Amino acid sequence: MTALSQIVLDNAYARLPDAFYRRVQPTALRNPRLLAFDSGTAALLGIDPLAPGEEGGRALCDLLQGERAWEGVDPIAQVYAGHQFGVYVPRLGDGRALLLGQARVGDRHYDLQLKGAGPTPYSRRGDGRAVLRSTIREYLASVALRGLGIPTTHALCLIGSDHPVYRETPETGALLLRVAESHVRFGTFEYFCHSEQHAHLRTLLEATVERDFPQLADVLARARRDAPAPTEAPLDLREVVPCPELAVAFLREVVRRTGHLVGEWQPVGFCHGVLNTDNCSVLGLTLDYGPYGFLDDFDLDHVCNHSDHRARYTYERQPDVLLWNLGRLAAALVPLVDPGVCETQSREPGGLVHLALERLPEPLLDVLDGYGPALVSRYLRRMSEKLGLIARPSGAQPEDREPVEGDAPDAPLSAGHRLVGDLVVLLDRGKVDHTTFWRRLGAFDLAGWNREGAEIPAPLTTLFPCGGPFRPWLVAYQEEVARRGVDEAERRSRMQAVNPAVVLRNSLA
Ligand code: AMP
Ligand code: MG
Repeated sequence: MTALSQIVLDNAYARLPDAFYRRVQPTALRNPRLLAFDSGTAALLGIDPLAPGEEGGRALCDLLQGERAWEGVDPIAQVYAGHQFGVYVPRLGDGRALLLGQARVGDRHYDLQLKGAGPTPYSRRGDGRAVLRSTIREYLASVALRGLGIPTTHALCLIGSDHPVYRETPETGALLLRVAESHVRFGTFEYFCHSEQHAHLRTLLEATVERDFPQLADVLARARRDAPAPTEAPLDLREVVPCPELAVAFLREVVRRTGHLVGEWQPVGFCHGVLNTDNCSVLGLTLDYGPYGFLDDFDLDHVCNHSDHRARYTYERQPDVLLWNLGRLAAALVPLVDPGVCETQSREPGGLVHLALERLPEPLLDVLDGYGPALVSRYLRRMSEKLGLIARPSGAQPEDREPVEGDAPDAPLSAGHRLVGDLVVLLDRGKVDHTTFWRRLGAFDLAGWNREGAEIPAPLTTLFPCGGPFRPWLVAYQEEVARRGVDEAERRSRMQAVNPAVVLRNSLA
C-alpha cells in the first residue's frame, strides 16, 4: 500500500530566487474531513485510493494541513500577474493556494497544490479560503475533462470542514489538492517582464523548459552554452543575456498546446468563464475552474460567468481570446528576444504591457501564426470524430501521428467544410440541446432514412421543431458518410463512443 504521505516531495520551485514565491504555512480548517478522493488522480501519482470515512481520511487531513510530518514538504505561494478582463494587474499570485512540493512518479513529476489553505501575501483582500461549493465544482470538472481526454489539472481529494467562510451567505471552507505537471501561467512570465526583473524572466524560462519541455533540451543547452545567464542575479535585474532561440521555441510550444486545448474545448461545449492570462497554463492545461460551464442549449454567445458583464469570454470568443492571451505572453518574452524593441517600447506609455502585436519582434509574431492551424486541425479532427466520419484513435494521441490530408476516407473534414460550419449555425439558431443532439444523431438510422420524404426523422424532429434548414444539412451528411463508405453500424458506434451521454449540467453543479 502506498499512501500520499509516503511520497517524498521535492520543491524545485522553492529553489528559485526569493522573488518567485513566499513561504507560507497552511492555516488549519476547523473539523476537517475527507469528502472525496479521486482514484484516477491517485493512479497518476501511483498511490492507493482512499474512501471517505476510512481511517486514513483523518491522517490525510492532518498531512495536508501541516499537522503531520511529510518529508520534503515546503509550502510556497507563487507570484504572478495577469491581464484580467483585458486590464493588466501587476501583481496577483496564489492568494489561496500553496504549492506543497513536487512528486516524482517515474519520469514524470506533479505539483501538489493545496487550494483553500488560508491567506498568503498575495491574498489582497481575500480570506485565502475556498468554499465547499466551488471546490466540488473544480473537483467534478477536473474529472470530467480528463474523462473527455482534454488536458487539465487534476483533483486528488476534497476536504470539507465546519470552518465558516463568508461569501454572499455563510458557507463552509474546504480544501482541494490539485495535481498538475506545472502551475506556471502566462501571467508568471508577465510578472517578471513587466516588473522589469528580466534576469528572473530568463531564469523562469530556463526552469520551465528544463522541467516541462524536455523536447527543447537541445535548445536549452545551446542557450546556456552560447550565452550563459550569470550565476548570481545582477544588481540591476533589467540586465539580461537574451536567449532568442529558446524564447521563440518555447512560445511555439505554448502556441501549439493552447491551440490544441481550445480545439478540444469547443467540440465538447466547454466554456472556461475566466480566460484571464493568469488562468492560462503554459502547458496548455485547463486551469483554474471558476464559473465554467458546459453548453446546455447550443449558444455561440453563451457567457457562463455572471460577472463578465461585457461578455468578453463567450463560448464563441474563446479561440480569439486565447490568441490575444498568447500575444500578451509573446510581449512578455520580448526582453529575451530583442533588447532593442524592449528598450524602445519601455519608453512608450504602458511599456511592453500594451505592445501591439504588429510591433512584436518578427520571430515571435511568426510563431503566433501557428495558432490557427493548431486549433483548426484539432477542432476539425474532433468534429469529424463526433460525426462518425473518422474513428477516434485509441492509445496514441492524434498529434503524434502524421495528419492524413485531403480526400482520403479517413481524413478529417477540411477547413471551411460546410458540414461543420452549417451545423454550428443550425445548432445556434435552434438553441438545440448540445448533448442530446449528438446522441440522437448517433442513434438514428441515417442509412435507412428516406431523404425523399418530407419528414425529419423522429429522434431529431423535437430538436429541430421548425425543421427547415436542418433537412438539407442531413442530406449533405448522408452523402458525406456514403462518399467515405462509412458503414452505418460503424458510424453509430464511433459516435456513441465519443459523444458523451451525460454532461455535467451547470444547474446540478
Ligand atoms: P481567479 O479569478 O479565481 O483565478 O483569482 C484571481 C486571483 O484572486 C488569484 O490571484 C487568486 O489567488 C485570488 N483569489 C481568489 N479568491 C481568493 C480568496 N478567497 N482569497 C484570496 N485570494 C483569492
Ligand atoms: Mg486564477
